Amino acid sequence: MAHVVQPDPAADGGATVGFRVTPRSEPEAQAPGFRSLRNAQPVAGASGSDCSPVATHAATIPDKSSDAIATGAFTMADDAKIAQFQKLVEQNPNDDMAQFSLGTALLDAGRAMDAGPCFQRVLAVNSQHSKAYEMLGRVQIATGHRDLAIQTLTNGYRIAHRKGDLMPMKAMAELLTSIGAEVPTVTEKRAESGEGSTIAATEGFSCRRCGAPGPKMERRPFKGPLGEQIHATVCAKCWKEWVGMGTKVINELRLPMFDPAAQEMYDKHMKEFLMIE
Ligand SMILES: [Zn+2]
Repeated sequence: MAHVVQPDPAADGGATVGFRVTPRSEPEAQAPGFRSLRNAQPVAGASGSDCSPVATHAATIPDKSSDAIATGAFTMADDAKIAQFQKLVEQNPNDDMAQFSLGTALLDAGRAMDAGPCFQRVLAVNSQHSKAYEMLGRVQIATGHRDLAIQTLTNGYRIAHRKGDLMPMKAMAELLTSIGAEVPTVTEKRAESGEGSTIAATEGFSCRRCGAPGPKMERRPFKGPLGEQIHATVCAKCWKEWVGMGTKVINELRLPMFDPAAQEMYDKHMKEFLMIE
C-alpha cells in the first residue's frame, strides 16, 4: 500500500528530506481563530452543513470509560487509522486537519520520516498552526535534523506566543531546551483579542486556546470531568468554533458515534482543537 503523502509541489517548495518550513509571509495581524475554515469543503455524500445538530449531540455523549479504552479493546489499529487518514488527504490535500491527524498517527506508529511532510503540508495551508510546528520539530529532532528543528521550533514558539497558545508554547520551549538551543525571548504581550475585545471580560479568566479574557460558556458543554475542564479553560467563542469543526470531523471521518473508538477519536480531535491535554 502506498503510504507516502505526496505534497502538492506548488505549495511551499514540496517535501525535502529535511522538511524545511518557511512560513509564508502573511500580514502580522491574524484573526484570533486557531483554524481557518476557508478550505472547508463539504464531503461528497455528507450533508455539507457545518452546524448540523449531530456534533452538539455527539459532544453530549456521556464520558467514555478511559480505562476500557486504554486496554486497547476499542482502539483502532494504527494501520487502519493511517489508511483512513491517507484516504482523506488524497481526497482533499488542503484539509489541514486530516493532514495533521495523518502526521500524528504516523508519528505515533514510529514513522517520523513519513510524518514530516504531513506537518509541513499543514503549515503550508495554515502557517499559524502552532501545534504543527511543535510536531514538525519533534519529527526533525527524531530524524536528526537539529538545525531545522531549531528553526521550526523558534518560529513556532513565536507564533504560539502571539496567539496565546500556551501548551504548544511550553512544549516547544522544552523541545528547544532538550536539544541545547535557546528559547526565544518574547515580550509579555498577550494575543490580540481582535473581534473578541468588544465582549465583556470575565474576571480572572483567560481562554487557553485563544487567550481572550472571555466570555466563558454559561455552563459546562457536557457532563463529566472533561466538560468541567472545557468550561473552566475555554471561552464560548472557541467552543462554538469547535462545534462547527466537530461536525466536519464526524462527516469526514464517517465516525459512527455509537462506537467507543469513534468517540475516542472525536474527543482526541476536540482536545487537540481546544488545546487540552
Ligand atoms: Zn477562546
